[in-house]
Amino acid sequence: MALVNRLQFFSPSQSSTHFRKPKSVNFHPICSLYYDSSSSSSPFTEKHSFERYQRDEWLYANQVEQITACSFPPDSDSIRQDDIALQLPELKRLLQVLREKRESEGCGGGKCGPGNVFLVGTGPGDPELLTLKAVRVIQSADLLLYDRLVSNDVLDLVGPDGRLLYVGKTAGYHSRTQEEIHELLLSFAEAGATVVRLKGGDPLVFGRGGEEMDFLQQQGIRVKVIPGITAASGIAAELGIPLTHRGVANSARFLTGHSRKGGADPLFVAENAADIDSTLVVYMGLSTFPSVSLKLIHYGLPPNTPAVAVERGTTPQQRTVFAELKDLSQRITSAEFVSPTLIIIGKVVALSPLWPLSLKEASCLVEAK
Ligand code: SAH
Repeated sequence: MALVNRLQFFSPSQSSTHFRKPKSVNFHPICSLYYDSSSSSSPFTEKHSFERYQRDEWLYANQVEQITACSFPPDSDSIRQDDIALQLPELKRLLQVLREKRESEGCGGGKCGPGNVFLVGTGPGDPELLTLKAVRVIQSADLLLYDRLVSNDVLDLVGPDGRLLYVGKTAGYHSRTQEEIHELLLSFAEAGATVVRLKGGDPLVFGRGGEEMDFLQQQGIRVKVIPGITAASGIAAELGIPLTHRGVANSARFLTGHSRKGGADPLFVAENAADIDSTLVVYMGLSTFPSVSLKLIHYGLPPNTPAVAVERGTTPQQRTVFAELKDLSQRITSAEFVSPTLIIIGKVVALSPLWPLSLKEASCLVEAK
C-alpha cells in the first residue's frame, strides 16, 4: 500500500509538531538489557540503538513509558510495528505543515514544482570525510532518511529543524521496504520539501542509489547526487594502502561478497576476480569470505597474497587484521569482526606502513587509533 494512503489512517489528534532538539532529552534505557550491548559502542546508527531514539525524539512521553516499562525483550516484529506506528503520524503532520507552508507562499496546486531530493554520500564514518556540499545540504534539509551505515557523528550535523527518519536495514531485518522509502521520498518532494537520502560511503557504490533515482525520475522528480568517499578509498587512505600502484597493481575491483541466493559464496565473484595484478576490495563479505578466499586461491591467487580486514573503518572503533590470504578468514573469526567490515586483497596491502608488523607474527590485529 502506498505510504501516502497509509498516512490517512492516522488522525491529526494523534500527531504533533515535534521537531528534533538534538541531545536535549535523557530517556533512561530501562530496557537496555535487551539491546545488544555491542551496538551501544557502535559509531553507526544500528537498528535498536537507544541513542537513535533519543536523538530522533520520535517518542512521546506515553510511548517512552510503554517502552521503558516493557517486561519482554522486544522481537523484531513488534519493534517494526512500533517503529512505523510511532513515526507515521508525525510524518503525516510534517507533510501537512509543509503543504500549508507551500500554499501560504502561493505555491498551491503544484505551481512551484516539486522540492529537491538529494542522494548524499556520507563516507565511511569519519564526519571529516564529508564533502562541503554534503554538509550544506544536510544542514538545510527538511527531512533526512538515513540507514545504519551513516555514522552518529554525521547525524549530529543535521540542522535543528531537520527531521530524521531511520530507514535502515540489518541482515535479515528490514525496517522499511524499498517501496516505502520510494513513497516517502516522493510524497515529501511533492510537498516542496528538501529531502535528503543519506547513504554510507558513496550512494552509487553498492548503495541502491540507482534504484531510488530511477523511481523518482520516473515520477518527474529530479534527484541530485552528492558523492561520498566509498569505504575502499577511505579505508585504504587510513591504512596507507595505494589501491593502484605502478608495477604492483594496475587495476582495483570492488566486489560484493553478498550472496543473493543466501548461499555460501556470491556467484562468480572469486572465479572472475582472481588476478594477481589487481587489488580486490570485498564489500559485504564477512559471512561469505571463508569460501570466497578458498576459491580465490583455487583460481590462482597465491596463498600468501597480502590481505587485510577492517571493521568500522575510519571511526574511533576501527579494528584491523592483516594476514596472508590463506589465514585471513581464520583471523577474522578469531577477532570476532562484525559488520561493517571491508576486505582488501592484493600486493598493494604490503605497501601499508602497518604491514611489516604482521611479518613478525602470522597476523596482526591493530586496535582503534
Ligand atoms: N555505499 C557504501 C557501501 C555499502 S555496502 C560505500 O560506498 O562504502 C556495505 C558494505 O560497505 C559493508 O558491508 C562493508 O563491507 C563496507 N563498509 C562501509 N563502510 C564501512 C566502514 N566504515 N568500515 C568497514 N567497511 C565498511
